[in-house]
Amino acid sequence: MAEQNPLNPPNPGHDSLVDGNVLAAKSFARCGVKHMFGVVGIPVTSFANRAVSFGVRFFAFHNEQSAGYAASAYGYLTGRPGLLLTVSGPGCVHGLAGLSNAMANTWPMVMISGSCDQSDAGRGDFQELDQLEAVKPFSKFSVRAKDIKDIPNCVVQVLDWAVSGRPGGCYLDLPTDVLHQTLTESEAEELLASAIDGADRKLIGTEIARSEIERAAELLKKAERPLIVFGKGAAYARAETELKKLVERTGIPFLPTPMGKGLLPDTHELAASAARSLAIGKCDVALVVGARLNWLLHFGEPPKWSKDVKFILVDVSKDEIELRKPHVGVVGDAKRALELLNVQIKDDPFCFARNHPWVEGISKKAKDNVSRMEAQLAKDVVPFNFLTPMRIIRDAISGMGSPAPIVVSEGANTMDVGRSVLVQSEPRTRLDAGTWGTMGVGLGYCIAAAVAEPDRLVVAVEGDSGFGFSAMEVEQTLVRYQLPVVVIVFNNGGVYGGDRRSPDEIKGPFKDDPAPTSFVPGAAYHLLIEAFGGKGYLVGTPDELRSALTESFSARKPAVINVTIDPFAGAESGRMQHKN
Ligand code: ADP
Ligand code: MG
Repeated sequence: MAEQNPLNPPNPGHDSLVDGNVLAAKSFARCGVKHMFGVVGIPVTSFANRAVSFGVRFFAFHNEQSAGYAASAYGYLTGRPGLLLTVSGPGCVHGLAGLSNAMANTWPMVMISGSCDQSDAGRGDFQELDQLEAVKPFSKFSVRAKDIKDIPNCVVQVLDWAVSGRPGGCYLDLPTDVLHQTLTESEAEELLASAIDGADRKLIGTEIARSEIERAAELLKKAERPLIVFGKGAAYARAETELKKLVERTGIPFLPTPMGKGLLPDTHELAASAARSLAIGKCDVALVVGARLNWLLHFGEPPKWSKDVKFILVDVSKDEIELRKPHVGVVGDAKRALELLNVQIKDDPFCFARNHPWVEGISKKAKDNVSRMEAQLAKDVVPFNFLTPMRIIRDAISGMGSPAPIVVSEGANTMDVGRSVLVQSEPRTRLDAGTWGTMGVGLGYCIAAAVAEPDRLVVAVEGDSGFGFSAMEVEQTLVRYQLPVVVIVFNNGGVYGGDRRSPDEIKGPFKDDPAPTSFVPGAAYHLLIEAFGGKGYLVGTPDELRSALTESFSARKPAVINVTIDPFAGAESGRMQHKN
């Protein structure tokens, strides 16, 4: 314990006292933390205020869940851990949503929760919970500062763990008594200096095995129908320059995962997205960079993939490679691995010409599918289906040029249709429901995007259900901090839209209640933001939508555009119908 003995003050006369709140805030600031998301209350309010006073901008949310989603996406976009601050007990539990989302997506994040007095733990203290136990399944590292003197070291540890190896969520527990302990300014300085300034905090990355790079190049060289697949791990690694070099030097077609979109422009002539089934169904060698062979990529198995396909996996996580057992596994950072691969093939780029049958086949299929889609998109369908407003939004976004807006997307049909229609031309400009298919991330992601990339407009394209999870954050994001975010709500009156129950499902004493999928028809979501002083639009025709987009995009001010969609357009569960 570092309590001051009043009879024998260290450094009498000069040295003022600092408490745990000040020391924790100073530690984060000293580590270079610039932003924090969270909800304040007992016992962390002073910590947040102190953090602000040391130059950390605090974004105060209504709910820890949204703040946690913001922290996770901030980690992805910046490559530095996103910070979530919560109160104890229930605050920590709400924050688990963000922490688990960071884990599922492998994004770096640190959750900091206040906790009850250590001496009262186990006796039913105010908001008491064994938080270290609660975060265990969702964090790669967690630690409690048991004494004020532990704080600087604990801060360094959680920040470093979050970004080392496979990124993920970490947890720091700050008990009430520790936040109230004091030590002298000079003691604090000494602790800070030894934990942060003096220490050699260079993170050690895995040295990439050259033999695997050679084997990867060899396999690609022998391939007849190679494909390059990349995901949000490659985006996180900022591997776009190396990817471009590899694709353009070898002439191999590529396929991004939803959040890999934009590392190379969707409009690139080697993009295989519009010929996805052909590309993955027929390729004989697939170089997969920073993307898991999980459900999103059909586990890398038949019937979607050929049974003879050979995978080359590049992943920072050795566990991931061991799980998937690829033909060649390259453990290490995606950017570095691709750099080495480019060097390896420099003198022998085994170029696929544009008229190579494999490349030509994909390109032809892609063109056919695109023109079929464009024919559908060209129609103005009113009342709106999903395609018509999506085309209008796509054109408005494309019209913005560079820097391209960040698109936040969630929902069932809204996200599915958005993924194929909206064009991504710059890296890390798409945030969606991700690996976990998490709904309710939208507003948190909007805030994170606006904070992480202040030069970009943020455009959210969301289903009304997804929006509803965190709609109250329009006050926080869109109005209180005046962030340039335009939220477009595809309002079809519910989850998947109208009541689609079979007659067999409509019975029993509550059969006259609205269906579990139904919301209030025609909900006036645009008025919600007006309650706080933002701008709302209600649109139902192409002209109304275009004019709302033009006005809100150029204003770069918080807005909600409520788009009325035919409740029976689209499919139940979108593309996941077989699972529902
Ligand atoms: P997607 O959803 O786009 O398919 P996933 O989240 O499934 O992407 O996969 C991302 C993968 O990227 C994870 O397995 C993660 O370990 C890996 N990864 C994270 N950072 C890096 C990095 N710097 N270099 C290489 N791989 C990375
Ligand atoms: Mg809906």
